[in-house]
Amino acid sequence: MDDKRSLLRNLPSVDQIIKNELIEERLKEYPRAFGLMAARKVIDDNRERIRSGAQVRVDTDDIIREVLSSLDVLLSPNLRPVINATGIVIHTNLGRAPLPKDVLQNVMKVAEGYSNLEYDLDKGARGKRYSHIRELINEITGAEDCLIVNNNAAAVLLCLSALARGKEAIVSRGELIEIGGSFRIPEVMEQSGAILKEVGATNKTHLRDYEAAINENTGLLLKAHRSNFRISGFTSDVSVDDLSALGKKNGIVSMYDLGSGCLVDLNPLGIHDEPMVQNIVRSGIDITTFSGDKLLGGPQAGIIVGRKDLIQSIQKHPLTRALRVDKFTLSALESVFMIYADQELAKRRIPVLKMLYSSNEALKIRARRLSSALKKAGVKADISIRKDITRAGGGSLPDAEFVTWTVSVIPHKISVNTIEERLRKSNPPVIARISDDRLVLDVMTISTSQINQIVTAISTALSG
Ligand SMILES: *Cc1c(COP(=O)(O)O)cnc(C)c1O
Repeated sequence: MDDKRSLLRNLPSVDQIIKNELIEERLKEYPRAFGLMAARKVIDDNRERIRSGAQVRVDTDDIIREVLSSLDVLLSPNLRPVINATGIVIHTNLGRAPLPKDVLQNVMKVAEGYSNLEYDLDKGARGKRYSHIRELINEITGAEDCLIVNNNAAAVLLCLSALARGKEAIVSRGELIEIGGSFRIPEVMEQSGAILKEVGATNKTHLRDYEAAINENTGLLLKAHRSNFRISGFTSDVSVDDLSALGKKNGIVSMYDLGSGCLVDLNPLGIHDEPMVQNIVRSGIDITTFSGDKLLGGPQAGIIVGRKDLIQSIQKHPLTRALRVDKFTLSALESVFMIYADQELAKRRIPVLKMLYSSNEALKIRARRLSSALKKAGVKADISIRKDITRAGGGSLPDAEFVTWTVSVIPHKISVNTIEERLRKSNPPVIARISDDRLVLDVMTISTSQINQIVTAISTALSG
C-alpha cells in the first residue's frame, strides 16, 4: 500500500513535464494546450497502472518519452496514409481507390488557388459547375448527358426522388440489395418518396413479372447490380436490354444502379459478370448510376448518365444542390476520365486497374524482393513466400478470385497477434492479415517503393 502511495507521489506534475526542455522544443510551433493534453493523459495512464497494482517504476525520463510519443500522435493528422498489405484492392475501410499522381497534381493546382469552377472563361460570365466534365463523360460512356453527385448512394436517392416520387418503382425481389450496411434499396426508396413495388422471387424474376406490375401509377423500372453477392442454382433475371425495351414500350423510365461502374473489359481477367458502363448505356436504359471510387478507380463520387431530358430534370431537383461535389472531386474525376480516353493507358495508369491486371510474374518478383529484404535485415522471424488468391473488395466482384503472391511472417519471440497490432500502430501503419497463425503480407496492394518502410516496420515490431 505504502509502495503504491509513494509511486503515485513520485509521478511528475503536468507543470514539470511541460517545462522539460525536450517537450518545450517539440511544442515550439504548437499551442501549449497540446502539451497539457499529452502530459495529463500520460500521467493519468500511469496513475491508473499504479493503482491497478502493476509494478511500474516511475522514471521521469520514461514519462517524458511517453509524452513525446503521445505528442507525435496528437500533432499529426488523424487521417493519414497507411500501407495496405491486405491485397484487397478496393478496400472501403482503407479509402477505396488510390489516385494516380498526376491526377493529384491537377487537383492540387485547382485547390491551392482560384479556379473557373463556375465561371465561363469564354463569356466572362457565370458558368456551370459540371460543364468541365460533361462532354468528356458523355464521350467515354456514350451517354447523352451526365450529372455528378457525392457518391452512388446519393445518385440513386436523387434519381428516385426526382423521377419516381409518389409513384411506384418496380424492383425484382432478387435485387433488393444492401451495400455496406446502410445502403438498402427499400430504405433509400422510402427516403426518396418512391413506392417500392417488389416483383418476382428471390432467385427468379421474369419480364412478365414486371409487365404484370405496370399500372397507371408506375414511375420507374429499377434494376440494381448484385455487387456484393451472387445467387446460384436455378436463377433468372431480366436483362438490361429487355427491361429498357419494356420501359420504352410503356413510356416508363428505366434505371440501373450499376454499382462499380467499370469502364474496361474485365473478361481477360476471367471476370465475365461485371458489365461495362458503355455497354449498359448502349442497351438503351434511360438512367445508369455508378460509383467513382470502385472499379473506376477515381475519387468518391456518384455518376449519373443517361437521357438528356431526364438528366436535366434531375438537375433541377433541390437535392442536387445538397449532394453536389466540390472542386477537388471534379478535378480528380476529370483527370481520371481523361485517362480512360485510352483503355490500354487506363490499365497501366489507374492504380486499381493496374493492380488487378498485375501479372503473376511481377507479383512473384515483388514478393521475392520483400522477403529477401526482410531476411537481409535479419528479422527474428521465419519468412516465406507463396502463391495465393485475393479479392477485389469494395463490395465488387464477390466471386472473382485474383492470383496474387504473399509473404508470410512467423515471429520467433512474439505472437502473431502482437506483430499484427504493432504494425497497425507503426508509422506509417501497415495493415496486414493473420491466416493460419502467420502474418500475411499480400503484395497485390504493396508498391515496390513501400518495401523499405515495411521492412523497417517489421524489424521494429519484432525487436520492440
Ligand atoms: C457500392 C454500391 C452502392 C453505393 O455506392 P457508394 O458510391 O459507396 O455510395 C450502391 N449500389 C450498388 C449496386 C453498389 O454496388
